[in-house]
Amino acid sequence: MQKEATLYRVEGNRVRCVACARRCLLGDNNVGFCGIRSANNGKLYLNVYGKVAAAHVDPIEKKPLVHFYPGSSVFSFSTFGCNWMCAYCQNFDISQRRRAEGVDLSPEEIVEMARAYEVEGITYTYNEPAIFAEFAHDTGVIAKKYGLLNTMVTNGYWTPELVDYVKDFLDAVTVDFKGNGEEKFMKRYTGASGPEPIFETIRELMKRGIHVEITDLIVPEIGDNLEWAKKFLGRLFDIVGPDVPIHFLRFHPDYKLDRLPLTPVETLEKHQKLAKETGFRYSYVGNVPGHPLESTYCPECRSVAIGREGFRITTWNLTEDMRCKSCGYRLPIKGKLSKNYLDMRFREVYI
Ligand code: SF4
Repeated sequence: MQKEATLYRVEGNRVRCVACARRCLLGDNNVGFCGIRSANNGKLYLNVYGKVAAAHVDPIEKKPLVHFYPGSSVFSFSTFGCNWMCAYCQNFDISQRRRAEGVDLSPEEIVEMARAYEVEGITYTYNEPAIFAEFAHDTGVIAKKYGLLNTMVTNGYWTPELVDYVKDFLDAVTVDFKGNGEEKFMKRYTGASGPEPIFETIRELMKRGIHVEITDLIVPEIGDNLEWAKKFLGRLFDIVGPDVPIHFLRFHPDYKLDRLPLTPVETLEKHQKLAKETGFRYSYVGNVPGHPLESTYCPECRSVAIGREGFRITTWNLTEDMRCKSCGYRLPIKGKLSKNYLDMRFREVYI
């Protein structure tokens, strides 16, 4: 369904979308870069309001969010389209199909489904949620009334206007960097201008008390440069400090970059080591099930605070107020351990 957008302003006889850092300026009948917002008669419309492309129930650790309501399940959904065009996108059939298609599901119906699946929250994911901000907003506001958490998985290529718009319902975000946020890499492989708007988004989200975790997808051969990583980690550390978790994710070949190999595990370990040396207290290796760096270690006594295997919690060594049971150090984990954490939390959702 088409619905007038909120995140835009009129400039002469054109409209300026302010949902993402591209800030497309659109004349009548023009469609934005994301393919799902368009101008008509001096107004901007979101063309996928109430149109769902994919939905699943996932463990929150899959997002990944590992310092936020551990063991929770989240109802995850997306629309079509994206404001980036990553050459290795693993959801390219969703993100690069820039059409107003999908199954009709209103915000009320999505919340109803989430409650029926007895999950703790809703995650806006699989494609960039900034581009369907108004649909996410209306869903999130209703979800909040029922005590559900709202989280997003995003590239962070936002505007301050968007941060303001989501601040009242959004609880947590995973911000996905690509290629250590290196400008030339981003231009070439994602179509984004560079990392500055992302750093700004993170700063603004944290100012508003929204929980942030960072990922960096390490693409072998073209995006695994340790010099870039050093620069990136230094800059990021100055913004987020030592307690924001950072995850180094393994790339697997897909879409236009299916000729590249999987990221070697040693490469991920080198990036993790660099993060530790930079001062990050919680750095992880992701997409390598069974790796010891999936677990959380107490920074004080180095004992396992939360053991994980894949997205499953295998050990819980924290008190109710998130203190290490071995030494009493308080870890910055938000929320509480879900009572359902032992359940298998992947479920198909039929829409
Ligand atoms: S959300 Fe879409 S239309 Fe709006 S600025 Fe970004 S790419 Fe352009």
